[in-house]
Amino acid sequence: MRSVILGGGVSGCAVAAALRGTPLEREAVILEQSHHASSFDLGVLLNQTGLTALDIVAPEFNWRHSGRLIHSVVLRSSAGRTFSETPVDACVAMRGADFGRMLRDAAGGVAFLEGWSFAGLDRAADGTVVGARLADGGGIDGDAFFACDGSHSRARHLVFPESHLSDAVVEEIVGIADAPAVAARLGHSFHKFHDEEGGLAIELLPLNARAVACFLQFDPLRWTLVSRDPVALRAFAKERAAGWAPEVQEAIGCLDYARARLVQTRDLPPLDELSTANIALIGDAAHAALPFTSQSANDALADAALLNNLLHDVADREGVRAAFERYSEIRWPHHHRRFKEGRELCREFLAPVPKSGPRVPLVA
Ligand SMILES: Cc1cc2nc3c(=O)[nH]c(=O)nc-3n(C[C@H](O)[C@H](O)[C@H](O)COP(=O)(O)OP(=O)(O)OC[C@H]3O[C@@H](n4cnc5c(N)ncnc54)[C@H](O)[C@@H]3O)c2cc1C
Repeated sequence: MRSVILGGGVSGCAVAAALRGTPLEREAVILEQSHHASSFDLGVLLNQTGLTALDIVAPEFNWRHSGRLIHSVVLRSSAGRTFSETPVDACVAMRGADFGRMLRDAAGGVAFLEGWSFAGLDRAADGTVVGARLADGGGIDGDAFFACDGSHSRARHLVFPESHLSDAVVEEIVGIADAPAVAARLGHSFHKFHDEEGGLAIELLPLNARAVACFLQFDPLRWTLVSRDPVALRAFAKERAAGWAPEVQEAIGCLDYARARLVQTRDLPPLDELSTANIALIGDAAHAALPFTSQSANDALADAALLNNLLHDVADREGVRAAFERYSEIRWPHHHRRFKEGRELCREFLAPVPKSGPRVPLVA
């Protein structure tokens, strides 16, 4: 049986790796529209959900030694006063580029077709998907289809046309600073600094002895960024961080703005199902969430690990359909809960910080 994986990001590579050892492994292909790895880099925080899934999907790597272990979350005011320090089950912080490379290695045996943009689906009269149509007019047949094409998923739009991403209510500048002194000061903790008026926060995540991932989250109704070019990003970030704790100002000053990016964060109101017939939605295509939970990549990995289990004994398209139905039943309540948590954290982010201090944003 041939598996067609639409999209070669975190979910696509995790699914490809997860298909190993199942009957769907042999002829699997990934269609990825881009040609080159993005120059954009960010920090990723793998938590217990993601690490447990990686033990199933890509056990050949020692993920816990592939980045910096993070033992606590420190919530602070803009000036640096500590509201709280909360121990967390060991998480691993790493560069997104390294994480992506390792996942792609794990997907190794699968044909990775770069520059292949999928544009449509061919379906039989009973709704079964029989092929993916390409933007250049060609096509590729298959028995099982995995929609891993991200939050703006074309596949989701085709199979669930009523689904719509929400409007962006929070924007985020993300990038990596080369700041060894800051990395040393942050130690093994994830630090989040808050403007007490609400609607502005800066997260610093140490990735190794030199690199610090920075996430500047802001309410675009309160501040407008005139342009996305590196000069404008730098000016905006420096203005926002003026007068903040020294480590924030230093990290913002050392950020590599040429490789940083402005992200408009949008979530996806929960779908009724995550699959139909022999096509399943995975990762952001299924459950794009707001960034406050730091969970989306971890959830994509958990999706893939579950599919590994459910697809182990399938023999035909009927088996694929049954496995995808089960996948949808199991994951749906989880995504529903995650959507609500993301929205709640967003509401709290936009409001002034309460006297008791902000809530720890990581949810497991
Ligand atoms: C700034 C930021 C920080 C984050 N930090 C964390 C974190 O710390 N922890 C965490 O768990 N999550 C984090 N996330 C979320 C995480 O990055 C996403 O959940 C994850 O990347 C989703 O993976 P995906 O493969 O589903 O989608 P994507 O990464 O968007 O990949 C989709 C892929 O599909 C391809 N594609 C799209 N359309 C087509 C098409 N028509 N044909 C062929 N290919 C197509 C795209 O080119 C892309 O490669 C963060 C996200 C952002 C933006």
